[in-house]
Amino acid sequence: MLMPVEDAQRQILSHVKAHGRVEQRPLTEAQDCLLAQTAEAADDIPPFSNTSMDGYAVRAQDVRGAGQEPVVLDVLGTVRAGHPSEETLKAGECFKIMTGAPVPAGADAVVPVEWTEALDSAHVRILRAVEPGAHLRFQGEDMRKGRAVLQAGTLLTPPMLGVLATLGLSRVKVAAPPRVAILSTGDELRDPDMPLEPGTIRNSNSYALFGAIRAAGGQPVLYPTAPDEPEAIRALFTKAAGECDLVVSSGGVSVGDYDFVKPVIESLGKLSLWRVNLKPGKPLAFGQVLGVPILGLPGNPVSALVTFELFVRPAIRTMLGDSRWQRPKLRLALASDFTEVTDRRQYVRCRLILDQGHLKLWPHTNQGSAVQTSWQDVDALMIIPENTGPYRAGDEVDALVLSTTHIHSQSS
Ligand code: AMP
Ligand code: MG
Repeated sequence: MLMPVEDAQRQILSHVKAHGRVEQRPLTEAQDCLLAQTAEAADDIPPFSNTSMDGYAVRAQDVRGAGQEPVVLDVLGTVRAGHPSEETLKAGECFKIMTGAPVPAGADAVVPVEWTEALDSAHVRILRAVEPGAHLRFQGEDMRKGRAVLQAGTLLTPPMLGVLATLGLSRVKVAAPPRVAILSTGDELRDPDMPLEPGTIRNSNSYALFGAIRAAGGQPVLYPTAPDEPEAIRALFTKAAGECDLVVSSGGVSVGDYDFVKPVIESLGKLSLWRVNLKPGKPLAFGQVLGVPILGLPGNPVSALVTFELFVRPAIRTMLGDSRWQRPKLRLALASDFTEVTDRRQYVRCRLILDQGHLKLWPHTNQGSAVQTSWQDVDALMIIPENTGPYRAGDEVDALVLSTTHIHSQSS
């Protein structure tokens, strides 16, 4: 019996800890980081009551009857954003006021300019009544002085960067990205700018993993490709484990005569897991070298990225201190047939398409573990339990949603 994916995830994460390192970053470098401090409001936000509309600051009681009988008010002047007025409104008076400007003393409402007629520079006719508080944004209604606005662990999305700026913080403490080593193994691998001799292929995994590590919140560290020789692999694993928080290799973990990753992990440390019930990606290996967790991903480019998604990304999130690494699992209808039945659980690259407002799964037709184009426009991995199927268009299945990036490009 092969180990179920969830058991393998649990076992791997039981050996991975939040590293707890923090670093200071300017807001311009903090996007997608996890905040590692509380962010308190040193002042009320907004810091002063102000108007949400261009119009006239009035005393609501002066314009109570304006709906039936327009009211004419004296205009004392104009209050602009950034320029508070010193004067206090008295009965029958108003100020012209611009969005964001402080509400002058005595005023308790704003009449939008669309509900008025300027008679001359000193008089305005008000055509509608307003309630006290109308079109005002009150001091402290968004954030209260002295309160914690954001907690440690908050994911810094663009709006949260705006919140931090509003709080007057130009630099914040964030969880430092774990350093993640990338080691690709294989005699046949050549880097993208090297010529291809007969029998060689490009090393694509190192670059795909580089992007995947960064997207997961890690700091990728690229090592040279190792040939299929135990000594070379041992030397690189030792160096990487000494320099990084997590080591991710690709290739050389299967049952071939030149697959040396497993014996090397065993000789340097401990191999705690090998082979998981999934397709693609069965020969995944996990262990420790010099106390550093190491994930040996299969070499096939699709298998490497599927196992990255299922095992490496959760490890990186856990190291960052983020326990919310699970992707949302949605039950969605298939947009086309999926007929392959196997004795392993399948993770199938799918596009999410919009069919009259309903999300549906469109599985790529060639799901071969070396077919890199099967990732194109993929937003979801559909989960097909072992020994089930064939599935037909309209059948509902579980899917892990990785993103929604590509939905727009195929909307109906
Ligand atoms: P392996 O797991 O070493 O048996 O490799 C399985 C398949 O993946 C073989 O066809 C390898 O040539 C290919 N492969 C291994 N590593 C890489 C890599 N870094 N980039 C692209 N293909 C690879
Ligand atoms: Mg190999």
